[in-house]
Amino acid sequence: MFFEFVKRVKNMTNNVWLFFLDLIFPIECLGCGRAGFWLCCDCFKEIKFKPRQYCLYCKKENDFGQFCPAPARLNSRSGGCRVNYSLDGIWIAALYDELLVSRAIKGLKYYFIIDLADDLSQLIILFVDRLLKPSRILQSALAGGVAWRNFKLAENLPLAILNFKDNLVVPAPLSKKRLRWRGFNQSELLARSVAEKYGLEFDGVSLIRTRHKKPQAKLTEAARLKNVKDCFEWRGGNLKKRNIILIDDVVTTGATLNECAKVLKAAGAGEVWGLVVAKG
Ligand SMILES: [Zn+2]
Ligand SMILES: [Zn+2]
Repeated sequence: MFFEFVKRVKNMTNNVWLFFLDLIFPIECLGCGRAGFWLCCDCFKEIKFKPRQYCLYCKKENDFGQFCPAPARLNSRSGGCRVNYSLDGIWIAALYDELLVSRAIKGLKYYFIIDLADDLSQLIILFVDRLLKPSRILQSALAGGVAWRNFKLAENLPLAILNFKDNLVVPAPLSKKRLRWRGFNQSELLARSVAEKYGLEFDGVSLIRTRHKKPQAKLTEAARLKNVKDCFEWRGGNLKKRNIILIDDVVTTGATLNECAKVLKAAGAGEVWGLVVAKG
């Protein structure tokens, strides 16, 4: 009886709360202000994808966001960025400068508008469709005998793209403290949608953030590296050369994703690729 009463009061206050929330914070498009959507179709269509992928370290453009491999000549100045990372590369859907993208990410993370996770997932999915195009062309070419042009393409194609269906999707984890504060892990919401869309296996429990440190956003590059060092742990089984897609909302220096990749590779992962909504 008492509990029933408490439940009813709670429901009532919830409704009252939602009513006031809607008054101060009505649902309207972050772009054009149209009522009833957080991101209307027209504004969503206006969002530009990042036109080319690049090596996150030296910003040299390439096809798949891989880090530059070791230089062919020993005294060559370019290349070799790969040696600084455990991560194989990062796929970046859009730029944080894109106003709607930064608003949507902030809305999700700091105003807890969970519906925006669907829009941001959709953005990642459209981006991945584009990323997979060369592998689809290549797969049909492989079936019909490989032409030289396709052979060259295959040389550069990451295994995680060529065998896309075999990837394991893992979200970048939050610490317990941060998870309690926000109530959800935004990366997990994105990762679930991506895994579901492509029928990929998902693991949202085995990669753990063991320590809570300062939010990365307020730190310099060197401080970021130190801040995330030894903060992650893989509590799942041996990954047996499985390729991993590690999903996060924003990448800046890649320090967080790289620390995750280090732990995943120590647990036997094959390639580890970051997949993010935006470059901050
Ligand atoms: Zn709009
Ligand atoms: Zn590079």
